Formats: sequence, C-alpha cells, structure tokens
Amino acid sequence: MNYLSTRGDATPRKFCDILLEGLAPDGGLYLPEGYPQIDAATLAVWRRVHDEQGYAALAFEILSLYIDDIPADDLKAICAKTYTPEVFGNKVIVPLKQLQDGFYLEALSNGPTLAFKDMAMQLLGNLFEYELARRGQQLNILGATSGDTGSAAEYAMRGKKGIRVFMLSPHGRMSAFQQAQMFSLQDENIHNIAIEGVFDDCQDIVKAVSNDLAFKRQYNIGTVNSINWARLLAQVVYYFAGYFQATASNAETVSFTVPSGNFGNVCAGHVARMMGLPIRQLVVATNENDVLDEFFRTGVYRVRAAADTHETSSPSMDISKASNFERFVFDLLGRDGARVKALFGESLAKAGSFDLSGDEAFKQAASRYGFVSGKSTHADRLATIRRVFKEHGLMIDTHTADGVKVASEYVQPGVPMIVLETALPIKFAATIVEALGREPDRPAKFEGIEALPRRVQVMSADAGAVQSLIAAHCG
Ligand SMILES: *Cc1c(COP(=O)(O)O)cnc(C)c1O
Repeated sequence: MNYLSTRGDATPRKFCDILLEGLAPDGGLYLPEGYPQIDAATLAVWRRVHDEQGYAALAFEILSLYIDDIPADDLKAICAKTYTPEVFGNKVIVPLKQLQDGFYLEALSNGPTLAFKDMAMQLLGNLFEYELARRGQQLNILGATSGDTGSAAEYAMRGKKGIRVFMLSPHGRMSAFQQAQMFSLQDENIHNIAIEGVFDDCQDIVKAVSNDLAFKRQYNIGTVNSINWARLLAQVVYYFAGYFQATASNAETVSFTVPSGNFGNVCAGHVARMMGLPIRQLVVATNENDVLDEFFRTGVYRVRAAADTHETSSPSMDISKASNFERFVFDLLGRDGARVKALFGESLAKAGSFDLSGDEAFKQAASRYGFVSGKSTHADRLATIRRVFKEHGLMIDTHTADGVKVASEYVQPGVPMIVLETALPIKFAATIVEALGREPDRPAKFEGIEALPRRVQVMSADAGAVQSLIAAHCG
C-alpha cells in the first residue's frame, strides 16, 4: 500500500514514511492510493475474528491491509499490546449500550483519559516506539492543548523509549480534572508546561518552534495532531466492531452518528464505508460551531474567524475549521488533487470559503457517500442529558449528547443507529451538574487525583524559553 497527498503529490510513500509526519510537503493530507475492498467472504471472516478472538485481532486484520512495511508478527504484537482489557477497562474494548430498540451508544471512552482519542493515541504510542527503535532515532513531541488531546497524548507516550513529550497548556485555564489528569503524571519523559496566556499563545509557540527548521531538525521535533493518518486508521476499526455488535448478519446495514469537530472521527467512518462496511448513513453532529453542518446542508464550506468560534459546553468540538475535511473532499471530487489544492490552498486562504453547491459532486455527498448532518445547542445538550438519564438511568457527556440529539432526527425503521460516545461525563462535570443537579460518577481510578503531587512548570509565553527547555532535556 502506498500513500499520496490530497493536493496532488503522488510520490509513493509507505506507511512508516508518513507515520511520524504531519502534512505532506505540498500542504495536503496523506491518504492511501485506494481503499482495500472487503468482499462478503472477508467480512464474514472478520465477524468471526471479532466475535471469537476480539478487538485486537480485528484491528490487526484491518491495519495489515494498510501497513505492509511492518512484519505481520510485529504488527500483531503491537495490536495485542494496545487493545487490552487492562488499558480499556473491559474485554469487548468498545461495548455497545442499548438505549432503546435499535438505538445504541458505542462506548469509546473507557481508555486512560476517558475520551475516544485514547483509541487511536494508544496505538500511535506503540507504533512510534517501535518505529523509532527500528531507526535508532529519538523524537520530541511538542504540542499545545486545551484539554483532551494533550492528556491522551501524554498517557499514550508516558514511559515510551525514544520519546519525550513537551505539552503546552494555558496556565489555570483547563478544568480542575483535566489539569489533575495531566499534571499528576510523574514519568520523566513527560513535560507539562503551563504557559502564562491563552490557548492561542500556546499554539503560536508550537508554530514558532516548528518554523525554526534548524532547531526542528536538530531536535527531531514532531507532533501528534489529528491529521496523522495512523490515528485515523486506528479509528476505522471501531466502526467494524460496532457493526458486528449491532447486527446478527452481514446482510444488515447500520447508521452511525458522530459528534464532530475536526472531522477525524467521522472521516474514519467514511473510510470504513468506502471499504465496503454496510453503513447506510454517516450523520455528522456539530454543536453551535456548525462549519460542517453548514457544508452538508448547503455545499458552502466557510471557515470561521477565532472571534466567531463559540465557547460551548462541548468544548472539544469548538473548531473554526475542520482539519481532516480535506480528505473527504478529495474523494468527493473524484480524487482531483489539483482541484483540492485550488479549494483548500487558494480559495480558503483568500476568501475563507468555497462553494460546491452548484457542483454535481456535492449532491453525491448524501446520495453516494451517505453523509447527512445536524447541530445541537447548549439547551439541546441539557435536555438530552436529562432525558437519557431519566429514561435510561445513564449519564452521558456533553459531546455524546450532541450526537444523541442529532441521531434521533435520522433514525430509519429497520436500520440500527449507533451513536459514538466520545467522552465520559466526569470530564465535563459542570454541565452535568447544570443538567442533573448532581455530580457525575467518577471511575474509581480517578478518586482523589486532584490531590496528587503535580509535575508542571509555569513559563511565560516565550518560544525561545521553550526551545531552551527542550534543548536542556536533550543533553
Ligand atoms: C476530539 C473530540 C471530538 C471531535 O472529534 P473529531 O475527530 O475532531 O471530529 C468530539 N468529542 C470529544 C470528547 C473529543 O475529545
């Protein structure tokens, strides 16, 4: 399997060539040159593999179609070590919870940081460690976080050989629980840096350091953001696992609803569907930041300015542009790299938007690719959290609530609807209290984490100082 860029650079690259990279050199995103097609016989085998051998074995089947530069036995061992009941809290790894007949939540948030990002990040940690050892290299991961991504990255990379993490966060601005999750890590290779400023200041520092090419090369600076292909690929697996649990035979179809921000999670659903998984609809659920809902309703993709990006009670979906969306548009436009380059490289840069409403291809977003969308507001989240708790005795988090709200608008008779649960309510306790008048349940392993000793360094918003700190740790 070779990989190419969505903006036309078709230099063939292997999985491990792009594993440690961000954007392609032409500014595009990496995609496989084609999606392996799953015939009925293979799907039948995979159902058996899932039911009899479990999630890790299914992950190996799927990943091995996309990764041909890691020996099969090694890849199998990496999958087995990643998707364990010890790390993900239960044997099924991604169990379904039925709310009503034919309406399910797929639990993706039982990993170390209680959000679905662990599903991909845990695999990435093991792939990185493997590949760096093979190359005899070291990697310094530099990131900025306002919450979920940073903690998922730290818990995936802690204790990994050849990897150091330098994670910037805005001092005093994350929730108490999120701060405790990150800062209580005592691993020597994890460095928490609280920047005196806001999230944008942290991101500016990451950009400044990454743009210092000499420094970047000397210290092998890398990132783990959501455009990484390996993260997306890892997420494809749970669409298959959800399908096998919700259906009794491969003649059935299901729909998925996905709480969306950067379009990474639902893009993995698109890949699964392109491979031949019988998915009827892929329902994109947004909050008040409705860039994606607007596109699927109108054909206009209009990124927002920072000032027009709302701070909501489902903060991990507060995005102004969806960094993975370019991958879907590449497929939608028949893989025309020159056109994608004109849209994302030029129209977006100049006008902040592009318009496909008059394009035949846009009609196919729904008819051929199964995409539909909807949005949800703070009031909807509160009402949905209350309703699900009252009717099913189940507490759901604010992002999952956006999904449940929008999913209920797209339920079709005879087609099971699976909503991806993207976080546990304890991460967003304030809104749960607002909705239900009580604190969310806290998994036992997080009892009292706010009181644990903290390992964090407060620094001013100064890229040079962050560079000195990295250099000091690299001897
Ligand atoms: C990251 C995140 C999302 C959005 O996922 P994308 O892949 O960016 O669309 C939704 N919910 C939670 C809880 C998240 O952490």
